[in-house]
Amino acid sequence: MRKKIIAGNWKMNMTPSEAIALIETLKPLVQTDEADVVFCVPAIDIIPAVEAVKGTNIQIGAENMYFEEKGAFTGEISPAMLTDAGVKYVIIGHSERRQYFAETDETVNKKVKKAFEHGITPIICCGESLTQREQGVTIDFIRQQIKIAFLDVTADQAKTAVIAYEPIWAIGTGKVATTEQAEEVCKAIRACIGEIYDEATAEAVRIQYGGSVSAASAPELFAQKDIDGGLVGGAALKPDFGKIVNYK
Ligand code: PEP
Repeated sequence: MRKKIIAGNWKMNMTPSEAIALIETLKPLVQTDEADVVFCVPAIDIIPAVEAVKGTNIQIGAENMYFEEKGAFTGEISPAMLTDAGVKYVIIGHSERRQYFAETDETVNKKVKKAFEHGITPIICCGESLTQREQGVTIDFIRQQIKIAFLDVTADQAKTAVIAYEPIWAIGTGKVATTEQAEEVCKAIRACIGEIYDEATAEAVRIQYGGSVSAASAPELFAQKDIDGGLVGGAALKPDFGKIVNYK
């Protein structure tokens, strides 16, 4: 049985002092043994956030990471910086990074490999645009994203990966995918991992749904066979996140 994983993506929200206050509010609300709970926070919030969650079930993740070890890459954050700060997860290839910061499937693959090298679990984002969905190419497009993201990733590494299926049209729009749409794509992602590797790897990899998840939509979404939790944006900044984590 795969353990659920419910992660918040704070995006570019919360100053360090606001982050600590939010964590104090959420701490008692997100207690559970049934799911892994991750707060992916802005880089400047990582150190105070790691301190603030000590002794709780919450893990801290980053929202991005560079694929080189160190050097002349002004403004970037290295994997070693993240691990030294206590980070366990990193979001890779969020659609906002692809849209505004020119990330590609190739840079996603480089970052995924680098995260694994450093023992950081990547939360690898994929998802189609509204045009792609309307043109009926969703599954083909997602399969391409997955195949490139996992190039030269070993089966043992892939087993520990988290994939977030996030239809772009559902992110921050309040337009949640139907349960059937979400399960169909998550199932196809698992099948794709099975083709790249094997059945055992496909069964082990955890696949989240993301896109306007709320306390109301979480129970049905997370009950699907191939949906192992969620990547949550807007609702991760509210007490509602506690209801999403304890969705049952
Ligand atoms: C996200 O940022 O990954 C996300 C899914 O955002 P929202 O839940 O606000 O749609």
